[in-house]
Parts: sequence; structure tokens; C-alpha cells
Amino acid sequence: KLVSKKWKVKPTSIDLGDEVCIKDGDMAIIAGPCSIESEEQIRKVVAHLKENGIRMMRGGVFKPRTSPYAFRGMGIDGLKLWYSIAKEEGIKIVTEVMQVSQIEEMYPYTDIYQVGARNTQNFNLLDELGKVDKAVMIKRGISGTIEELLQSAEYVFSGGNEKLILCERGIRTYEKASRNTLDLNAVPILKSKSHLPVIVDPSHGIGIREYVPQMALAGVMAGADGIIYETHEIPEKAYSDGQQTLDFSQSARLADWIRQTFAMR
Ligand code: PEP
Ligand code: MN
Repeated sequence: KLVSKKWKVKPTSIDLGDEVCIKDGDMAIIAGPCSIESEEQIRKVVAHLKENGIRMMRGGVFKPRTSPYAFRGMGIDGLKLWYSIAKEEGIKIVTEVMQVSQIEEMYPYTDIYQVGARNTQNFNLLDELGKVDKAVMIKRGISGTIEELLQSAEYVFSGGNEKLILCERGIRTYEKASRNTLDLNAVPILKSKSHLPVIVDPSHGIGIREYVPQMALAGVMAGADGIIYETHEIPEKAYSDGQQTLDFSQSARLADWIRQTFAMR
């Protein structure tokens, strides 16, 4: 496989410009709300990230919700608004693309296209992202194996887009005490099999706010190249995933801990 270390030994670096990079031997921090909600919310998150030296912001404008009646995102107008604020502040945008038709409209406003866990095996979407010259972060499927994640990455890579990031975000198991089972085994395995950077998402991985920090740090020690987590000024009022979202003081502390833990690794 093209994504395997047998094909390419040198680790792949994702350079987003302005000295923002995701690469082996570094620790990327991507933080932000589950959903983009309003101009005020975007400004507050951006200010929080700036205060803490975090250069990449996550947030969904197209949301894959279990219930069709739940908040499904602000859509492309939300992304444009977000971009207008983030660009001025030098913050990079990581956001989910749900279908092929969104790729082009999102393009000017997106730094990393996120392929969500429900779309990991949407092969048409992966084929089209293979033709784009912007970074793609592929999340592991809800019930996806490590091998299947690598095969999904192979779709994009073989299509010509080598700016790829893998994300472990927890898998569905028989365990119901947590939202998902964060499979940290995947980190060293992916790192040994592939030259692509590996990011851990402890928010979706455990789904319980209180335990997000320790799982993030476990991810760092497992060898991840970055952590992506959810934060919001008032998590209880978040439009989605509030139960796993950190407030700004928890987020500030975690960012600090991630850096300290990484320095010890
Ligand atoms: C998200 O990042 O908010 C999200 C929907 O993630 P996942 O696809 O991992 O469930
Ligand atoms: Mn979420």
C-alpha cells in the first residue's frame, strides 16, 4: 500500500502554512466546539485558542446527527463566517465534509477536510478528496478496523492527495460505560504500519467530559502526533456533544498538560 511504511519510510508532514504543521516528532493541538453555532461563539473560541497558543480550530458546519431533528449545523454560510474570523487571527480550520458536492464549496474556507467516522467508508467521497490539494483527516469508522482505516486512507492517497492524517476516535464495542472505546492500541500500530501522522480524539473516544484530559494524555504517551478535542465557553449549552466538551479553563489546562506530557515523552 502507498500509505504503508514499506512504500515510503519518511514520515509524512502536513504543512498548513504560517508555520502550522502536523508531523511526526511534534504535537499538534486542534480544539474547538463540536458545532459552529454563531459569530459570538466563534469569536470566543478563537480568542481562547489565541490565548493558549493553539493554531488549529475544529468545528462542524455539516453535522452527521443520529436524529434528523437534532441541530445539523450552520452549513456553508457558517463556514464562511468562521473563515472570515479565523483567517484574521491566523487560525486554521478543521471541519467535516459529508458529501462530494460540499468539497468544492468548502474549498476556499477549509484547511483540513475531516472525514467523519460515519463516512470513513464512503468511497465516492474518498475518491473525490483524492483529487483535492488540501489536507484530509480521516477518522476511524465507528466499527472500523485499523486495516479498514488504512484502506480508506489508501483511496485518498492513491487518488493523488498525499496530505493525509489518520484519527483514532474510539470504536463501538460491547462496553456501554463510555460512549466509545478509545482504542489507543491503534496509535503505535498505525505509526508502525504507516508514514501518515496519527491524531487522537479523546472527546469522542470516551464521551465523558471529566475523563477527556487523562485520555488525551494517554494518547500523547501512546505516540500520537496530535490531539483533537472539543471545547466551548459553556459546554452545557453547546448545540451538540456538550457532555464531552471542555470549558475554556479545562481546555487551557489540558493544552498545557499535553505540551508538558509531550516534552517528557
Ligand atoms: C465530530 O468531530 O464532531 C464528529 C462528528 O466526529 P466523529 O465523526 O468521530 O463522530
Ligand atoms: Mn462532536
